[in-house]
Amino acid sequence: MKPGVENDETRELLRQRIKLGEFHPFFQPIVSLEDLRVMGFEMLARHISPEGIVTPPSDFIPAMERSGLLDELMLSLMVQGFKIAATWPEQQFLSMNVSPSQLDGRYLTETIRHTAREFQFDLARLKIEITETALLNDINTARTEIEALSGMGCTIAMDDFGTGYSSLAWLIQLPVNTLKIDSSFIRSMLHKKDSRKIISSVVGLGRSLDMDVIAEGVETEEQAEMLRGIGCLYAQGYLFGKPVSGAESCRMLNAIPHKGSLRRVARLSLDQRAHQISSMYAIPGTSICFLNPELVIVDASDTFAERVGWAPQDLIHKYIYEVIPSQAEKLLWLQEFRLKGLPYPPYEVVLPDGSSDLVMVTRVEDEAKDLLGFCVFGVKMSDTRLCYPTGRPIWSW
Ligand code: C2E
Ligand code: CA
Ligand code: CA
Repeated sequence: MKPGVENDETRELLRQRIKLGEFHPFFQPIVSLEDLRVMGFEMLARHISPEGIVTPPSDFIPAMERSGLLDELMLSLMVQGFKIAATWPEQQFLSMNVSPSQLDGRYLTETIRHTAREFQFDLARLKIEITETALLNDINTARTEIEALSGMGCTIAMDDFGTGYSSLAWLIQLPVNTLKIDSSFIRSMLHKKDSRKIISSVVGLGRSLDMDVIAEGVETEEQAEMLRGIGCLYAQGYLFGKPVSGAESCRMLNAIPHKGSLRRVARLSLDQRAHQISSMYAIPGTSICFLNPELVIVDASDTFAERVGWAPQDLIHKYIYEVIPSQAEKLLWLQEFRLKGLPYPPYEVVLPDGSSDLVMVTRVEDEAKDLLGFCVFGVKMSDTRLCYPTGRPIWSW
């Protein structure tokens, strides 16, 4: 299965292999960095020949894609995945990769809905992993599809996060629950400060937007320890387990007699978190500010000060509505969503210079769900591309 234009023969061969059941899901655990509990598994495709030779997805996914067979492959893997996941003891989640081309509004959502119904699989346990490239093609179709998946109960993860040209403004508006930090940042984190900065800001972004953050490709205890220090809660990688067969995944779960000792993941106070995040968000175009429960500003990024036209030191201890008068009304409006049990929606704020920010407010709570304050995260609505310290544009809108 070499890259190239697929002829009818290759397509037929691939289809035959799917029909014969030669593709199988392998499962890699995703763990809590605090107690190493397995939270769920990512399903990763493997071809197993009749002779027992195992082939990785990089050898067949591109050919499947060119042959238009990804949906058929997904269906075969999903049926097997649902059956295996039904045997896991603690209702761990099942994470499934979906290629950008599958978000075309034709097949994906209905297939998942039907299959879940047929196998009585609770879609709240299904996480769909999409990559940032899915948002680059036809954003409106992708958005409709992602919203439909979320509406069905699935959670949505942004895979390989940090490597593409993701749109922060879109990210805020999409029902994304999970960010998976790309393994390239984890691989270099011990010797590259820029990688640590990016990991730290993704962890901060996740906290600000109330999303889970998973570090991918964790191979060493040093990396795991550094991630704990940064405040990252979840991880995946060879350190915790390689992708294994379905039978092996059940053995893995049953073989953990005790959860092991608790490892400390940094739980930052509102002040510490504000400080960490605001220094990370020196990214032009994004601004962040933290309010205490009384709506007084406790910290703000320099970019926030600049956007609202105040000197940074003058902002602290001001009520948010002294700085942006329209916020008083907006916060009351947001309160109605909370009373109805709905998440706060993003909204547009016009700033003194006449430009607008897309703003997302999240509640910051401690472990006991007591309110610590609010995080106000803004993304300037323009088409400027952003550059991280690496000089590589990673986010734009
Ligand atoms: P991915 O979604 O980023 O999956 C993570 C890849 O990293 C997997 O490779 C996994 O085996 C590998 N990995 C996990 N932990 C470590 C680690 O600690 N060190 C190293 N060096 N590698 C680690 P795999 O299974 O070869 O899959 C490659 C890619 O193929 C996946 O990347 C995903 O994009 C794609 N893929 C896999 N299964 C499917 C599928 O069913 N459908 C679609 N559309 N794509 C799939
Ligand atoms: Ca993935
Ligand atoms: Ca990945």
